[in-house]
Amino acid sequence: MARTLIAGNWKMNGLRSSLVEIVAIAGGVTPARENVEALICVPATLLMQAADQARESDLKIGGETCHANESGAHTGDVSAEMLADAGASYVIVGHSERRADHGETSEVVAAQAAAALRAGITPIICVGETAAERDSGKAIEVVTSMLRESLPTGAGADSLVIAYEPVWAIGTGNVATVEAVDEMHNALRESLSDVFGADADLIPILYGGSMKPGNAADLLAVKNVNGGLIGGASLKAADFLAIYAAA
Ligand code: PGA
Repeated sequence: MARTLIAGNWKMNGLRSSLVEIVAIAGGVTPARENVEALICVPATLLMQAADQARESDLKIGGETCHANESGAHTGDVSAEMLADAGASYVIVGHSERRADHGETSEVVAAQAAAALRAGITPIICVGETAAERDSGKAIEVVTSMLRESLPTGAGADSLVIAYEPVWAIGTGNVATVEAVDEMHNALRESLSDVFGADADLIPILYGGSMKPGNAADLLAVKNVNGGLIGGASLKAADFLAIYAAA
């Protein structure tokens, strides 16, 4: 059975003044709850300080993307090794905003995930369909093939996290129905079983897309939902901790 992971994604939000929210969240997640982990992924500029502030607590800190290479001539990019060095234990890869804004293909995402594993941090591999893909009845097919193409080769099941984030649900308030989430997460678990066999059950599959304190309990109760990837509602400690409490 996979652990539960409640993960925040601050995106391009947060200044040093926002670190008070990290302090508050770190205070709220201690002491550890068995099998429920809390994580906030922050912009690279805040990573070292956020990790320092979370150090004495059970809150984990992560990055939001990484380059596929270890180092070199890639102006503006940050490697997984740098994230690990700054105190990250996770990194989001393949978020739909990265895929759209930076043209990151599933092949690139698989290479980023492999880089994360080499650096000793856990990649959270994001997949999800657009509204047009859902409307055309192809959501399951699109998302499961995106998953297959985004998986790093040779990874162990205990070193991966998957996040299902329908693009049309991100930041829109249009949360996916419990039925749609159930169907997709079952399909993702089945695809993971094709690759990892029985060990597929160890991989947390998070739901992301307008998860809020008011809808988290229903989403987190779905059989193959093992946590959430939370954007807007992770910026305020009170909202994030309410979702954490619902897990
Ligand atoms: P949202 O973002 O919770 O603001 O919809 C989720 C995400 O993009 O990870």
